[in-house]
Amino acid sequence: MPKYRVNTRNDLPRVGEILGLSREQVADMQAVSAVLPFKVNDYVLDKLIDRDDLPHDPIFQLTFPQRGMLSDGDFNRMRDLVTRSATDAELRLAADEIRATLNPHPAGQMELNKPHFGGAPLEGMQHKYNETVLFFPTQGQTCHAYCTYCFRWAQFIGDADLKFASKEADKLVQYVSDNPEISSVLITGGDPMVMKTKFLRKYIEPLLAIPHLISIRIGTKALAYWPYRFTDGEDADDFLRLIGDVRAAGKHFALMAHSSHPVELSTNAAEAAVRRVIDAGAVVRCQAPLIKHVNDHQDVWAALWRKQVSLGAIPYYMFVERDTGPKNYFEVPLARAHNIFTRAYRQVSGLARTVRGPSMSCTPGKVLVDGLAKIHGERVFVLKFIQGRDPDWANQVFFAKFDPQATWLDDLEPAFGDDKFFFESDVEDFQFANDE
Ligand SMILES: *Cc1c(COP(=O)(O)O)cnc(C)c1O
Ligand code: SF4
Repeated sequence: MPKYRVNTRNDLPRVGEILGLSREQVADMQAVSAVLPFKVNDYVLDKLIDRDDLPHDPIFQLTFPQRGMLSDGDFNRMRDLVTRSATDAELRLAADEIRATLNPHPAGQMELNKPHFGGAPLEGMQHKYNETVLFFPTQGQTCHAYCTYCFRWAQFIGDADLKFASKEADKLVQYVSDNPEISSVLITGGDPMVMKTKFLRKYIEPLLAIPHLISIRIGTKALAYWPYRFTDGEDADDFLRLIGDVRAAGKHFALMAHSSHPVELSTNAAEAAVRRVIDAGAVVRCQAPLIKHVNDHQDVWAALWRKQVSLGAIPYYMFVERDTGPKNYFEVPLARAHNIFTRAYRQVSGLARTVRGPSMSCTPGKVLVDGLAKIHGERVFVLKFIQGRDPDWANQVFFAKFDPQATWLDDLEPAFGDDKFFFESDVEDFQFANDE
């Protein structure tokens, strides 16, 4: 196992030299990383990034700040400050102003989805869809490296009020016990696999006695960013035992792997990690957003799904990049996303067609761009709820006017002359009830 070394903003000059980048390129990255979080470990640097293919290399784009992530105005402002060696305080002031304009908490996740208990909001949890509660353990709110496009970026920049974190395993157990419609707990972050197994165990073990709970999932990018978490040392072995304990209690255990590019699964360490967790009794389901500069090509997705299937993992979701943070640099229009998905889907066998997408996680629910069609002469998007804020919406189809530029549900208008989508007034009611 290589030494675990993490590089952050202050390491950019040294890391830039290792990668053979110019001083100008390093200064550009320093400007952007003053606003958006940057962290990359030596495994990603040495094993996943192809130094001969910079700056286009997908993992470089995935982890290193890119100048296009800020608007020209914001970029120039930060670049000026960096060039004249401004103080940390000056940088922070400018960065805070810019961050506030980047929609730090999209899709009502701060308020709309926070569960309540005895009248008080429960921190560290989100309960949007009946059957699944999300849990954000305090120690899991960081990652082994940061993705440039991450929609959780607001959690990493040390603003305590914005953190969803919770130390409250007791409250989680209580909440799940009291709500028999919950069949699945999804532990997420950040990346919960930055935590020692003994902490994970503290959260997971008490859940095993709840009869109506069917599955426990952990959302993680550690297979890509630090596969040794599953292969080397006593803590890795202890994690495999924890999987065994969950299975012995008769529950399903899934690792929800954030899997963006086939390169991530191509190292010996990553392959060994997938094999070990599956052998221990876990299911590995893979999901990732479609990101310009990283994986916006059908052949990349087809190769990714094939690789996942060959390792025994299951393709699960292709997401649309959310409406937050440096969206402009990374976004792919919905029409193009559907095209990439379709062309990739056509290349793979049914075993990889377990994947669904492209899917938007927006205020009303998870919405699939299921097709492009022409109906009575009008070109439309065929959209479908995979999950709805109202459970009755699941599996319902609806139609929007075709718009080749649209990148999110908010950009779309109802087709066939309707003035609202069928769910719109209900969503407004939800928001209204929450404002009170
Ligand atoms: C995606 C998601 C889930 C899990 O949905 P599944 O379709 O069961 O994987 C749960 N909660 C929220 C808020 C989600 O976005
Ligand atoms: S691993 Fe997940 S939470 Fe962490 S930076 Fe990447 S997308 Fe965000």
